[in-house]
Amino acid sequence: MEPTTIVLFGATGDLAKRKIYPALYNLFLDRKLPSDFTLVGLGRREVPVDVFRANVERSLREFSRREGSNSAAVSQFVQSFYYQVLDVGHSEDYDRLLRFVKEREAGYGAVANRLFYLSVGPEFFGPIAENIKASGLGSDCGWKRLVIEKPFGYDLASARALNAKLSESFAEDEIYRIDHYLGKPMVQKLEVLQQNNPVLQALWTNRYIANVQITASETVGVEQRAAYYDQSGAIRDMFQNHMLQLLMMLTSQLPTNSSAEQVRFKKRKVMEALEPLHRQQVGTQIIRGQYAEGNLKGQPVAGYTEEPGIAATSMNDTYIAAKLQIDDYFWRGVPFYIRTGKRLQEKATRIVIEFKEPLQQSAKHPLVPKTPNLLIFDIGPDEGITLQLNARDPKDKGAIKPIHINFHEQTEDMPEAYESLIRDAIAGDPTFFAHWDEVELSWQWVQPILEAFAANEVPLHRYEAGTWGPAAADELLAADGFRWWQDEQQEQLAPAAAAAQLA
Ligand code: NAD
Repeated sequence: MEPTTIVLFGATGDLAKRKIYPALYNLFLDRKLPSDFTLVGLGRREVPVDVFRANVERSLREFSRREGSNSAAVSQFVQSFYYQVLDVGHSEDYDRLLRFVKEREAGYGAVANRLFYLSVGPEFFGPIAENIKASGLGSDCGWKRLVIEKPFGYDLASARALNAKLSESFAEDEIYRIDHYLGKPMVQKLEVLQQNNPVLQALWTNRYIANVQITASETVGVEQRAAYYDQSGAIRDMFQNHMLQLLMMLTSQLPTNSSAEQVRFKKRKVMEALEPLHRQQVGTQIIRGQYAEGNLKGQPVAGYTEEPGIAATSMNDTYIAAKLQIDDYFWRGVPFYIRTGKRLQEKATRIVIEFKEPLQQSAKHPLVPKTPNLLIFDIGPDEGITLQLNARDPKDKGAIKPIHINFHEQTEDMPEAYESLIRDAIAGDPTFFAHWDEVELSWQWVQPILEAFAANEVPLHRYEAGTWGPAAADELLAADGFRWWQDEQQEQLAPAAAAAQLA
C-alpha cells in the first residue's frame, strides 16, 4: 500500500475517540494500513503529542472491539500519531500544517497520498475544503480524498450549496460521504446475497413480494443532543440518509460482480423511479410522531418535551413512518413501509419482506390458515437472516404452523462499520459511500415533507415511550391490508390469529 497521511479534523471529538481511532487500530492489527502511515490530528486546543497519543490509547482501551490493552501493539500503533493546533477559520494554521505534513512525508521516500477526514460540524466543511485548496495541502501529493460525516445539508437547497462549495476544491470521485449504515456488514451482504443467489433473484420482484417493511428503532431518547436533534428530527437524522440508503441497497437489481459505478447507477435509478411525494400527499403517506412519557424496560421515562434543552412547545418529529412506491418494472405495485423513531420498544434495524399468498382460496378448497412467508434481514444490533415458512403442525394434524429457518452471525469479533469504510476510503473504493446524486435525489424526495412539517400541515401523533409508535402508523399499513411484523408477532402468531387475519 502506498504511503498515506490522514489529516483528521476534530481529533479531540467524540466520534474520533469512539469510532475512528478504534477502527484504525483494528485495521492496523489486521495489517490493512499502509506501512508508511501518519495521522495528523487537529484541534483548537494546544495538546502535547504524548498527551494526544495517551488519549488515543485510552480510547482504544475503552472502545476497541479487541486487544485495546495489548500494550506492545498499541505503543507501535500510536507512534504514527501526531497533533497540530488548527482553527478551521485561520488560514495561517493550514500553512503550518502543510509544512508539518511535508516534513513527515519527506521520510517516506515516495510520494504520499492525503486523506482529509472531517469529523467536525457541517458548518466547517466548506471553509476547510476551501483552505485545503488555498494552502496547497491538496496539491503536490499522490491522490487526495475528502471524507465527510453526516449531516450533508439541512434541506435540498443547503445540500446543493454545500456540494457546490466542496466541488470547488474536490472532484466528486474524491469525496467520500460516510453513511455508516452502508458500512454495516449485513447491508454489505445484501449486495452479495442478491448478486449470487438465483433463489433471491427469482423472488426479488413485484410478482412475489407483497410489501417490504424497513425499521430502524431506537430505545434511547434525545440524550445529550437536544440542540442538534430538535432542529433535525427523525426525518433529517435518519430518514433522508440511512433509511433511503437501506431502500436503495435492497431494491437495486445488481448484476453479478457489479462495479462501484454500476452499484451507484442502479441506486440512482431506484431514487429516480421513486414516486414523488407531493406536499398535499404528506398527510396521508407520512406519519409524524413524538414520544410522550412512558415506560421502557420497567423504568419510567420522560416525554420528549420534558427532556432537558427541549422546549415544551416543540413540534419536532422523533418518529417517522412512510409509505413509498418505486415505479419501475420490478417494484411497481409493492408498497415500501419505512419507519424510524426514538424511545421505541426495541433497538433494532430490520428489513422484513412479506411474500404474496400464491394460492387462491376457494369454497372448494377449505381455508387453511397460513401466515405469509417472510424473509427477514436483521441488520443490527444482532445480525441474521430468517425465513418464515408454513409447515405442518406436529401437534395438530391438518393445522399449519409457521416455522423459522435462522442464520445468525456471531457479531463479537466482526469488523465495525467504520473499519470497512475507512479501509475502503484509503483503498479508493466508493461503493459503500453516498454519491452526490443519491444525496440530492434523497433530499428532493423529502423536501415536501420538510415543508409540510415546518408549516404544521400534518398531525403530530404523540406516542407512549416504550411502544412501537403511534397507532396511525398501524393504520397506514392496515389501509392496504397489511401489518407491521415485529419479532414477538412472528413467534406468537398462532394459526387461530392468522385465520382471523385472513377472515
Ligand atoms: P464533538 O463536538 O465531540 O467534536 C467536534 C470536534 O470539532 C472537536 O475535536 C473540536 O475540537 C473540533 N472543532 C470544533 N470547532 C472547531 C474549530 N473552529 N476549528 C477546529 N476544530 C474545531 O463532535 P463529534 O461527536 O466528534 O462529531 C463530529 C461530527 O461528526 C459532527 O458534525 C457530527 O454531526 C458528526 N457525526 C457524529 C456522530 C457521532 O456518533 N458522534 C455520528 C455521525 C456523525
